[in-house]
Amino acid sequence: MRPFTFERADDLAQAARLGLGAGQGQTNATVQFLAGGTTLVDLMKLDVLRPERVIDIGSLRGAYDSIDAGPSGLKLGALTKMSAVADHPAVLDGYPAIAQSLQLAASAQLRNMATLGGNVLQKTRCTYYRDSTWEACNKRNPGSGCAAIKGFNRNHAVLGVDETCISQYPGDFAVALIALDAQLELSGPQGPRRMAFAALHAPPSGQPHIETTLQSGEIITAFVVPPGPWNGRSLYLKVRDRASYEFAISSAAVALELEGERVRNVRIGLGGMAYRPWRSEQAEQTLIGKPLTEANAEAAAAVALTSAKTHGYNNYKPELARRTLVRALLQAKSMVPKREGA
Ligand code: FAD
Ligand code: SF4
Repeated sequence: MRPFTFERADDLAQAARLGLGAGQGQTNATVQFLAGGTTLVDLMKLDVLRPERVIDIGSLRGAYDSIDAGPSGLKLGALTKMSAVADHPAVLDGYPAIAQSLQLAASAQLRNMATLGGNVLQKTRCTYYRDSTWEACNKRNPGSGCAAIKGFNRNHAVLGVDETCISQYPGDFAVALIALDAQLELSGPQGPRRMAFAALHAPPSGQPHIETTLQSGEIITAFVVPPGPWNGRSLYLKVRDRASYEFAISSAAVALELEGERVRNVRIGLGGMAYRPWRSEQAEQTLIGKPLTEANAEAAAAVALTSAKTHGYNNYKPELARRTLVRALLQAKSMVPKREGA
């Protein structure tokens, strides 16, 4: 590991000041915040992330590790441990997709260490990105090319990619957040602000090393899931190569509001398919007002994957995504919500 300066922030203002540096949200950022450290330290050891300064934000945990569920929705402090949210009764009953996305992620040890904020900012698992002996990786080494396009791309993205990077966003929690229209609370040198979670991850757009829209020194302080009758009837379905301690090759977060057999409202998020957690509003529109039959679910799934682009080893992915989504929708239809209208 390369030498770096370690500093501790005692409050948000100090964190914002210490966090000022080049390339926030980029692979080559010169300053990195340390939360649980399960992504950051891993990638520093692999010589993929090379910050000159590491700012420990663990001391902010007391102020930003709350779980509040009420009439204005669900608010989760960004320094809350994954395990605390996965097991919380109000989340399990009122927002099952959120709880399941965290229960099915990583391992118990990691969930006890890792925070929600770090989770949504985790990095791609692309082998060429994680192995710094590979020259060609535009995300790690801007302008060097992309080894995965003609290489081993079995788990790479098929939606929203361009020819500069086909890496897949690997997290689970973010897929549930995007489906449920979550908002982010942020704090930085310019003060606090709110933005849609959907605006956090930046598209490759020829510059895949720029991964988020966070500003220099900015910290995620909370996630807010707005109230809605669909939250109680929501679920997260994860498909992976082995049954535990494994990233998704495909996943779906769905939330449904039914009126008899008909879909009054639906939210659809896809994981393992894109450079970011992927919301499919076109698929949602296909279902609204119709009975949730298998044929209608298949039609919506076809729409969700219309723009899929494969690169050889990942040719199987669009079909797997369609099947994952159909299964998730039909399971959500038959579930008995513990709390309707959270
Ligand atoms: P850190 O490592 O501390 O930080 C990660 C990044 O986020 C850093 O760049 C840091 O600067 C930044 N950061 C952290 N908090 C903030 C904040 N509040 N504001 C701004 N920037 C911040 N994840 C899944 O979803 N599903 C899985 O199946 C899964 N399996 C895994 C298996 C293994 C073996 C490992 C090592 C990880 C796995 N993960 C999985 C990823 C794991 O969940 C993440 O590593 C973890 O959530 C990151 O959180 P952290 O608090 O440790 O972040
Ligand atoms: Fe790098 Fe992206 Fe190509 Fe992987 S897919 S090698 S992360 S540029």
